[in-house]
Amino acid sequence: MIEVISAARCVECNQCVSVCPTNVFDRVEDGIPVIARQSDCQTCFMCELYCPVDALYVAPDSENIVGVTEAALEKQGLLGGYREKVGWGKGRQPVASHDYMYKLSLRAGF
Ligand code: SF4
Ligand code: SF4
Repeated sequence: MIEVISAARCVECNQCVSVCPTNVFDRVEDGIPVIARQSDCQTCFMCELYCPVDALYVAPDSENIVGVTEAALEKQGLLGGYREKVGWGKGRQPVASHDYMYKLSLRAGF
């Protein structure tokens, strides 16, 4: 479930508002979006994937609000962590690309 928008990182592009399939966010005039309907989140990670500056954190728990703080996420390097793992963002590669079996399957054409 969506947990945090980092005010320190957000550049107010509203990509997250546009891509969210369940309308969780509200735009704010001259400000960062707000998580207006958190319980409507489907934990699809789309907002985190499309955020260009890793300002979002979606927790893998789809049922419960975890209640993490931005400071704690920053400390653990988890803001935009899912996006990083799947290799979205300049210069990144998916974690799977380091896996031997994954490389083998690509060579074999699977
Ligand atoms: S994880 Fe998906 S459903 Fe939840 S806020 Fe982000 S885009 Fe919306
Ligand atoms: S996509 Fe990221 S930078 Fe853009 S408004 Fe949403 S949180 Fe802010």
